[in-house]
Amino acid sequence: MREGILFVISAPSGAGKTSLCKEIIDFFPELRQSVSFTTRSPRLGEQDGVDYFFVSPQEFRRMVAADEFVEWAEVHGNCYGTSRSTLDLWRAQGMDVVLDIDCQGAAQLKNSSTGAVFIFILPPGVEELRRRLTGRNLDTVEVIERRIRNAEGEIREARWYDYLIINDRLELAAGELKGVIMAERCRTNRILPVLRTTFPSLRDT
Ligand code: ADP
Ligand code: 5GP
Repeated sequence: MREGILFVISAPSGAGKTSLCKEIIDFFPELRQSVSFTTRSPRLGEQDGVDYFFVSPQEFRRMVAADEFVEWAEVHGNCYGTSRSTLDLWRAQGMDVVLDIDCQGAAQLKNSSTGAVFIFILPPGVEELRRRLTGRNLDTVEVIERRIRNAEGEIREARWYDYLIINDRLELAAGELKGVIMAERCRTNRILPVLRTTFPSLRDT
């Protein structure tokens, strides 16, 4: 059994990351999606423990001090973090894990030794991003404009990711994302250690 692969997915808010993550979680039943901790308030319909673990700023600070996050960052005025223990447990069990996190958190993982795969989702353009954020009907005009302003800086970070996926048509983008996951699972360096127990001729390689 190999260690689970970590797929880190970032995108400007409204690019379609949640929609795409749902597609791949439905498609690969064995893929796990990490539920982050956040200090932000739940949006309408969001459930504690499902969408996020909603915690107070004091509790979040305690978790940071206790080194309970593998990465954390302040995004749009709220704190978000990924639980280290859940991630380690799943990967040790051989389960591949998807993290939907911002560029600051992704950069922290890029500088660590997780061997993670970095995927950036782009909208087809800024106007379409605004249309999607407005159409989602979850945020005020001020929040939407702040997210669009932030998108510029986030898109600049796309350069150092391993894969870029433009979410124009959802089905096509979902197909590309599935393709990346399948290809990464076939990488020689991930498969070879497992095959060595099956094929003696590979043992001395
Ligand atoms: P994010 O998680 O990146 O903030 P969402 O997945 O919530 O984005 O998508 C933002 C809005 O855009 C949602 O209303 C979603 O249904 C819509 N959306 C997502 N992908 C597409 C697409 N390819 N074409 C049109 N609308 C999309
Ligand atoms: P939202 O509030 O719209 O759910 O998420 C806002 C941003 O926070 C998104 O870019 C999302 O990817 C990011 N985010 C969610 N969870 C985490 C996390 O655990 N760590 C980091 N660094 N970012 C996160």
